[in-house]
Amino acid sequence: MSTTDPILVVDGVVRAFGGVHAVDGCSFTVADGSITGLIGPNGAGKSTMVNLIAGALRPDAGTINFDGHDITGLAPHKVAELGLIRTFQISREYPAMTVMENLMVSPLRQVGEGLMTALFAPRRYRQQELELVARARGILAAFGLEHMRDEYAGSLSGGQKRLLELARAVMAEPKMLILDEPMAGINPALVDRICEHINEIRSSLGVTFLIVEHNLDVVERITDHVVVMAAGCALATGTMAELRENEAVVNAYLTGGASD
Ligand code: ADP
Ligand code: MG
Repeated sequence: MSTTDPILVVDGVVRAFGGVHAVDGCSFTVADGSITGLIGPNGAGKSTMVNLIAGALRPDAGTINFDGHDITGLAPHKVAELGLIRTFQISREYPAMTVMENLMVSPLRQVGEGLMTALFAPRRYRQQELELVARARGILAAFGLEHMRDEYAGSLSGGQKRLLELARAVMAEPKMLILDEPMAGINPALVDRICEHINEIRSSLGVTFLIVEHNLDVVERITDHVVVMAAGCALATGTMAELRENEAVVNAYLTGGASD
């Protein structure tokens, strides 16, 4: 048993679409400060689970607790305000804004206060803005995107957009990041880079990760712990090395229709 409390507790979560039980009594935990993988065959319910955690979908039953808060059925922006940020399979940058501007619109945890300060304490607002700019520059430098600062986000390569998405997520000062297939469709060199960034974000900022990923070699390389979903349930947990030896996991992959 770990001595630290889990940062995320998913307990008995159910979500059906019509007659399809996409998530069907799913329970698992994510340890604070871990890089946890979420794997399973296509249709296992991984993306639905991510949507339920992030507030994009409401569970029919069960509870989700994040960092001591019951977030079951909470709206996405409320979940994000608590420090739980998800990125999307498809990068959702603002193409007609520059890379720098994309970072400046991201920090949702300061937006509310920023507006009030802008109206009633303009000097302090200016100070905050300067701090944000400095932070954004530091983050762009860390992601190797500094030279692209004034380019339109829409003109970036697919890989650079993926990095920008991560940079924007970090700008929001998350406690936990959920990435749904962050490596999909990118070249091996960039996979290595993104793995390094994930490790760096965890070690320097203490961010916890939950990562949905198909490539089991990548999962083995970057995760401490893995949750296997099959048919809407968490079937097993362990390290990737342990799970490779787990017969139920192997069978679920073989019979569950995994496409890759
Ligand atoms: P995974 O991400 O593990 O591949 P999903 O969560 O996308 O799995 O899907 C789980 C199941 O739920 C699948 O059978 C899928 O067809 C179904 N499903 C997911 N979203 C919807 C939806 N919006 N409407 C109907 N069925 C859905
Ligand atoms: Mg999916």
